[in-house]
Amino acid sequence: MKLETLAVHAGNHPDSATGAVTSPIHLSTTFLRDDDLGYSKGFMYTRHNNPNRQQLETCLAALEGGEAALAFGSGSAAAFAVFQALQPGDHIIAPDDMYHGLRTQLRQIFVELKMWVTFVDFNEIEDHIRPNTRLIWMETPSNPLMKITNIERVVQLAKQHNIITAVDNTFATPCIQRPLDMGVDLVMHSITKYINGHSDVLGGVVITKKNDDFFGRIKMVQILAGGVPSPFDCYLTLRGIKTLPYRMKGHCENAMALAKFLEQHPKVEKVYYPGLASHPDHEIAVKQMSNGFGGMLSFEVKGGAEEAVNVAISTQFFTQATSLGGVESLIEHRASQEGPDTKTPQNLLRVSVGLEHIDDLIADIDQALWK
Ligand SMILES: *Cc1c(COP(=O)(O)O)cnc(C)c1O
Repeated sequence: MKLETLAVHAGNHPDSATGAVTSPIHLSTTFLRDDDLGYSKGFMYTRHNNPNRQQLETCLAALEGGEAALAFGSGSAAAFAVFQALQPGDHIIAPDDMYHGLRTQLRQIFVELKMWVTFVDFNEIEDHIRPNTRLIWMETPSNPLMKITNIERVVQLAKQHNIITAVDNTFATPCIQRPLDMGVDLVMHSITKYINGHSDVLGGVVITKKNDDFFGRIKMVQILAGGVPSPFDCYLTLRGIKTLPYRMKGHCENAMALAKFLEQHPKVEKVYYPGLASHPDHEIAVKQMSNGFGGMLSFEVKGGAEEAVNVAISTQFFTQATSLGGVESLIEHRASQEGPDTKTPQNLLRVSVGLEHIDDLIADIDQALWK
């Protein structure tokens, strides 16, 4: 089955009790126990499992091409469960440019729990592998500098040293980047972004290539810590997923056109978008991404923070807000969002390119740049 078909059908079937074509929302927290004390219908208690969550997990596993998936109440909870499944003394390699919330988790929580974490430039990853390295965490394209990691090269190296690999695939989605097909063990998403796609659900997922012991530990964290999504959020997410492949086509097309426009604009210093030939890792992006390069881009405005913020507040169709992946375009002065320890350039704006008409988006950002 192709992705468009999976997005509509995977995990979805008419309700056996009523024939409802769209799945009912199962709000019940508890399920009937059989006379022989079993649970023949497969559900006991909603923290353990729930029909809507099961449907979502089945769908997401199918979309990424994995054996199983675990849904969480946020992307942060999903990543947290992966780190929590490791042991004290384990070493994690993470990118020097990554989602700042996860970087903070590693720094403020897991280092305190006696894990070792190094943030590295993946071009020099060989130098950082240690005998106790258990996990290599990738994020590509990365947030907010749109750095590209050569996934196959990292997988090759990790396999030699028996290290688990994971990719935060939030920016790309399975529609344009398929880490599990490249030999990666785990994919994580903030569902909050493109997967749900309508800026109205917080969620996360971990998808595994193989339903192995390590994934069993992540599942244990999911159930025992209980950071699970509500049945209603699972329902909304599944509703969003049905259009994911078509939304991604629009996001990619619009972002490419906007990146090209910004690149030749006299008020713009630099554009970060893997689809541009000027991107330092464009060749790798072409190899490991398909159908486009995603809907996220960053650019530096000539001048400093003041000039950049002035552009962000002068747009009409780009809402000044954090987050990404919804149908509406968002613009953000990233450095002030990340706080004083950020390495993000002060004149950088991050844009989540939405599904408005590209002519309106270009005209809008052009007038804001001249303000
Ligand atoms: C938003 C985001 C996260 C965190 O997800 P939440 O759903 O906000 O907890 C992790 N990684 C990336 C790349 C993100 O954009």
